[in-house]
Amino acid sequence: MLRREFLFATGAVGLSACTALPQSRKEPQYYPIKSSLDRVIKNVVGLRPYRTAGYRLEAETFDNKKIVHNYGHGGGGISLSWGTSSIATQLALESSPQSVAVVGSGVMGITCALMLARQGVKVTVYAAEFPPHTTSNIAAALWLPTSYYDRKEVSEDFLAQDKQISRAALEGFYGYVNQPDYGVFWHDYHFLSHRLPKRKRELPGGNDLYPQYKVSTENNLFGYTYQEKMKSLMIDPSFYLQRIKLDAQISGATFQRKKFGSLQEVLSLKENVIINCTGLGAKDLFNDDKLLPVQGQLTLLLPQPEINYSYVAVDPNEFYYMFPRKGAIILGGTTIRNTYSTKPDEALSRKMVSAHANLASRL
Ligand SMILES: Cc1cc2nc3c(=O)[nH]c(=O)nc-3n(C[C@H](O)[C@H](O)[C@H](O)COP(=O)(O)OP(=O)(O)OC[C@H]3O[C@@H](n4cnc5c(N)ncnc54)[C@H](O)[C@@H]3O)c2cc1C
Repeated sequence: MLRREFLFATGAVGLSACTALPQSRKEPQYYPIKSSLDRVIKNVVGLRPYRTAGYRLEAETFDNKKIVHNYGHGGGGISLSWGTSSIATQLALESSPQSVAVVGSGVMGITCALMLARQGVKVTVYAAEFPPHTTSNIAAALWLPTSYYDRKEVSEDFLAQDKQISRAALEGFYGYVNQPDYGVFWHDYHFLSHRLPKRKRELPGGNDLYPQYKVSTENNLFGYTYQEKMKSLMIDPSFYLQRIKLDAQISGATFQRKKFGSLQEVLSLKENVIINCTGLGAKDLFNDDKLLPVQGQLTLLLPQPEINYSYVAVDPNEFYYMFPRKGAIILGGTTIRNTYSTKPDEALSRKMVSAHANLASRL
């Protein structure tokens, strides 16, 4: 997620009745994370497939082939996956094809394949890499559809459709909450800042998607001046992606390793309908100059099962987040545009570890 996108705030919110929240009579207990260099498991760097104009979700025809694009979801692709993939599969099925090819096996490709296979369509996924070796595996991944467009580059129509897509996308995850092996769970998310926001905007998708949403200006986590606290879903990609890939296979989808070097190679697939879920790979394959990498580095610490809260903390020149997973505590918050390097920066990791240790000491 990009720093800019967190700078929103809203008014009161209604409770969503869509799914059961954990019942707790007591206020949650905040255990400090143990952020120290001797607890670092590894550092990873991912490139968010960011489009200034927002994700590309449309069909294009080349002679007798139809390509449906579903890429460019920036820092919100895990969150959006059920929403944009639903539209992409509808576009693919308009001509009632016998079979469909999906190119790419990150969260978008697998979700499309699962949706098609469940409808009884013959589907083959072709991809250079599969989980756990995709960008989708690196995602943090908080359910908060943000950071995938520049506001001045998108129309009101895009924003209106995006709101509906976000709502449908969250609905898609409800069936997986607390299901064994899927890694989808509710937790307490906090957005923290030392400054009160200037503008008040609705939360992505609508305020009612975030149960127990509360704004406070005192008694906040780590002593911040301003806090937005809410229940939000965490989707642990290390569990989730493997599991939905298995679901797709059980429903009949097949997966083949294949790297495409050009659009012509894509068009030479035997299927006449192809869904393009290549993420950043679409830049070269489809000559998309609006698509660019936004680099993010994560530091993984040894897991702490007692942690069931997360935060994004905005300091004057910094941006830190912490998300808990079963296998690790995730520290992150860096966003660097137009950088293709995926080599971790050790100095940055040390800085992250120290900054989060400092926050934890304020509990
Ligand atoms: C540090 C970081 C933190 C993030 N945090 C969040 C978060 O908290 N919440 C959230 O919702 N999102 C988050 N994201 C964003 C999310 O990870 C992406 O938006 C999402 O993973 C994009 O999914 P995708 O399936 O489009 O692309 P990818 O996961 O990149 O998959 C692309 C697929 O296409 C294949 N491919 C590409 N080119 C070719 C080719 N030429 N030939 C064959 N195959 C090809 C690849 O091998 C791969 O299988 C984060 C991302 C990063 C990097």
